[in-house]
Parts: sequence; C-alpha cells; structure tokens
Amino acid sequence: MSERIAVIGGGLGGLSAAALLASEGFDVTLFEKNSNTGGKAAVIQGGGFSFDAGPSLLTMPFILHNLFTACGRNSDQYISLKKIEVICRYFYPDGTKIDAFADREKFKTEVHDKTGEPKDHLEKYLTYCQKIYDATADVFILNDFRSLKLFLSSTGLKSLLKLPQIDPLRTVHQANSSFFNDKRLVQLFDRYATYNGSSPFLAPATLNVIPHVEYTMGAYIPEGGIRRISEALQQLAEESGAVIRRGVQIDEIVTDGNKASGVRVDGKIYHFDRIISNADVNYTYEKLLNNPPRAEAKRYRKMEPSGSGLVFYWGVEKEFPGLEIHNILFSQDYENEFRELFEQKKIPSDPTVYVYISSKYHSSDAPRGGSNLFVMINTPYDNGKITEEEVQRTRETVISKVSTMTGEDIRPLIRFEDILTPRMIQERTNSRWGSIYGVSSNSRNAAFLRQANRSSSYKNLYFCGGSAHPGGGIPLVIQSGIIAANKVIEDTKRGSSG
Ligand SMILES: Cc1cc2nc3c(=O)[nH]c(=O)nc-3n(C[C@H](O)[C@H](O)[C@H](O)COP(=O)(O)OP(=O)(O)OC[C@H]3O[C@@H](n4cnc5c(N)ncnc54)[C@H](O)[C@@H]3O)c2cc1C
Repeated sequence: MSERIAVIGGGLGGLSAAALLASEGFDVTLFEKNSNTGGKAAVIQGGGFSFDAGPSLLTMPFILHNLFTACGRNSDQYISLKKIEVICRYFYPDGTKIDAFADREKFKTEVHDKTGEPKDHLEKYLTYCQKIYDATADVFILNDFRSLKLFLSSTGLKSLLKLPQIDPLRTVHQANSSFFNDKRLVQLFDRYATYNGSSPFLAPATLNVIPHVEYTMGAYIPEGGIRRISEALQQLAEESGAVIRRGVQIDEIVTDGNKASGVRVDGKIYHFDRIISNADVNYTYEKLLNNPPRAEAKRYRKMEPSGSGLVFYWGVEKEFPGLEIHNILFSQDYENEFRELFEQKKIPSDPTVYVYISSKYHSSDAPRGGSNLFVMINTPYDNGKITEEEVQRTRETVISKVSTMTGEDIRPLIRFEDILTPRMIQERTNSRWGSIYGVSSNSRNAAFLRQANRSSSYKNLYFCGGSAHPGGGIPLVIQSGIIAANKVIEDTKRGSSG
C-alpha cells in the first residue's frame, strides 16, 4: 500500500511537492484554505483587467523544467516561457534612464553610454556574481546543505573549497561599490537585495548571486502571466494523481510522541503517514502544531521576518510607450530608504517604485488602449505602523511619482483599483506579519538558520515554501518542494516509519 501524504498549503512549493510525490506513486492529498491554489502567485481581475497578484518575474526556469521532467512530463506542453530582452528600465531622479538588456554586449554599451562606466567593470562584476553562484548553487540552493551525504560527496567537497568566493563578510552595497565608480550602477545592483526582502546595506554580499541568475541565466515571463505557473503546477499535481481539496483550512497538525499522526479539519482528524507543511514555518509552529518543539519554535519566533510590500493594481485607460514590462523609479536617497524600512520600520517617505505592465506582453490583460499597472513599493512586515492613513498617503506619493515619470496625471485615467497590504498578505496566505520571503536575510548566518526541509523534532514532518530552505521566490520555493518530496522518498526507502 502506498504511503498517505498530506500537504498543507497549495502555494508553489506545496504544489511542487504534491506533484513529485504523486508521480512517484504516493497517495497525496493537498489541503488549500483558499478557493484557489497559487498562494502569493494568485490573480486579481476586475473591469476587464487581469493582474498577477504577487510575483512578476521568473528566473532559473531550469528548476521548473526539472520538476516536470522528474514527474515524467515535458514542461513545454504546459507552459511557454518568453525570455525578456529589456529586463528592466531604470529611471533615476536626475533624469537618467538605463535599460538593463539581457544581451551582455548591449547592456555594457548602454551602461557605458549612460554613465561613462568602463565596459569591463560590468563584465568583471558579472563574473564575480557567477563565481558566487558556482560556489553556492549545488550545496545551498539546489540541495539540503545539512545532509552529511552531500557534504561528503565530490560536489559538496568542491563547494567547500569555493566557500571563500561567496563574499560573506562585506555587505551587498560594500561589494557593489568596489566594482563601480558610478553611484547609479551601485544603486541598480544594490536593488537585487530586495529580491528576498533584504537591505543591501545589511545583507551579506553573497546575495550578489542574484544578478548572475538574472543577467546570465535570463529573466522570463510565461505566456498567460506568472499565474500560469500556479495553474500548470496544479495541473501537473492533479494529472500525477494528487487530490487537491480547495477551501479546506487545516486547524491542527496532530502529534503522537515524536510523530505527526494526522491533521484536524473542522473537529475531525484525518490520519496520514507523513505531513508536509507549505504554510509559513512560524505559523506552523505557533498555530498548527498541537505540541510544538519548544527550542525550534522559540528560535523561529525570535527570527526577524523579511520585508513585505504594498501593491497598487491600477487598470488605466492609456498605453505607455515610454515604459517597459518591468520598470523601476529609483528614490533620491537609497540608503535613507532602507534606514526607514529596516531601522525605523516604516513605509519610506520617498520609496523606490516598481511598475510591472503585463499587458505590454499579453494584450488580453487590459481592454484595448489600456494598461494594467502593478505598482509596488517595499515596506516593512506588518508591525502595526502601516495604518489605512499611511497607505492612502503613500498612494498619493506613488501616483505622483508615476505621473511625473509618464508625463501625465494618471489619476483621472484609473478605471480599476485594488490594493494589497502586508496585513492582507498575512490574511490570505498565513505568512507571518505579511512577510513575503519568510525570515530576513539581513544577517550573515540567516541562510543557515532557515527551517530545514525535514523537521528535527518530528520524524515524519517536512517543510517547503518561502520560509523554509532554500528561501523565497518562485524558483527557490519550487526547489524547496522538490527537496521536501525527495526527503519523503528517501525516508520511505530507508523504511523510516511514517
Ligand atoms: C507582491 C509580491 C511580489 C513578489 N514578486 C516576486 C517576483 O517577482 N519573483 C519571484 O520569484 N517571487 C516573487 N514573490 C515571492 C513569491 O511569490 C513567493 O516566494 C512564492 O510564491 C511563495 O510560495 P510558497 O510555496 O511559499 O507558498 P505561499 O504563496 O506562501 O502559499 C502558502 C499557501 O498555504 C495556504 N495555507 C496556509 N495555511 C494553511 C492552512 N492552515 N490550511 C490550508 N492551507 C493553508 C495559503 O492559503 C497559501 O495558499 C513575490 C511575492 C509577493 C507577495
């Protein structure tokens, strides 16, 4: 008889774990509290406009392809990805505009033409970023670095030798300042620390792995939007045999000694051999486990959540030929912006604004002649300071910035509006205080403190998703689902009782 597996949560991590285990013959049931799967990667629709609710850019697509291959399928039959030529258009307060081209030569020329920075500085920088990737990918991203077997393998030993290359002692900003003369380029590359909700002025330079992932491996958008990834993973899980129960909230993980024996829903207990939580790790300890392991729960409670975001979804009756799919309007004083975010823990007074317009690629995302503006700023997690008045004040600041950039007041052109606040992120996905990327990566040892994919207290409890190893963001949460599923497969083969 195949083992019975419960997956709690239908985010991208949970769907990935469910798909892989079902394809291996496990009897998988995934419980999702919302009426749709996808978690943060949901969709928002209204007034003829469609918006990706959360993530807007896909990197490391090989992880997605690997998952489909591991399930015996071809990802091309489920999802079609387009490589983006201009990854992002950057607007600076001094009027400079820099296009970050995917093509390396074009990008070097653009950077040189706009800032005078010698072309070889960019080349040297991206080579340095690649070295960090080469030193970290096998051990820290694609696998569980806690595995002794991995460390004793040739891959693990090679990675150990490369450890000095991961640049953990400098901050992202210190490292970037050492490569570029022009402050605008430092700001451009500092921004990548925000990809996991961190500050470039605090987070270790190891995060400079991210520009490699984006510029050397490429940035992608799926046909049908990022939401197509959630749909494709759900389809993969169901075709592989997983049962997905939407609108079912798990109230408790029931334990018996050092085993998780089942889940409680509406007062009824359902028994399972193994349980994977795709819900936020802190929430799993605080709210789901009836008998949380004290040390782990306490350690996790103390860890600072990552930053969050405030998103305005504006359906606008206008097209914007001067904008790209992805655009950044930088703040005047980046250091102060992060001081406000991470020290004062408030919405920045002059925030950097991100504008994503998917209708530039999928015309059906907006009525003819219109655009769907996904406009996001970084915020702290929900610490009680993000009041309704604060949100409205920020809305005005952001609208003014976007209007100045486009050269036209967009207020009278808005036909549809929706807003996502950190509190709403918490309510919709149970992420602790609405943090987007689990725990903060603002310290050198953060990567080592993240929740492992297998619990050390309950032998048949596993974790996947943005707050577990290897971290947040689409490719990493899919990988976390793969790692958690592989742990289950390994444990079953070893005969470790579930
Ligand atoms: C505004 C925003 C912008 C982002 N931009 C990007 C980007 O451009 N690129 C990128 O790669 N990433 C981005 N991300 C991050 C990315 O979306 C997340 O890292 C990823 O989607 C999280 O997946 P997850 O598996 O952790 O699950 P989550 O999305 O956190 O989903 C967890 C699921 O578990 C369910 N659940 C929780 N508790 C229970 C329970 N008790 N019972 C049943 N179900 C439960 C929830 O309802 C939810 O569906 C962004 C996120 C946001 C919010």
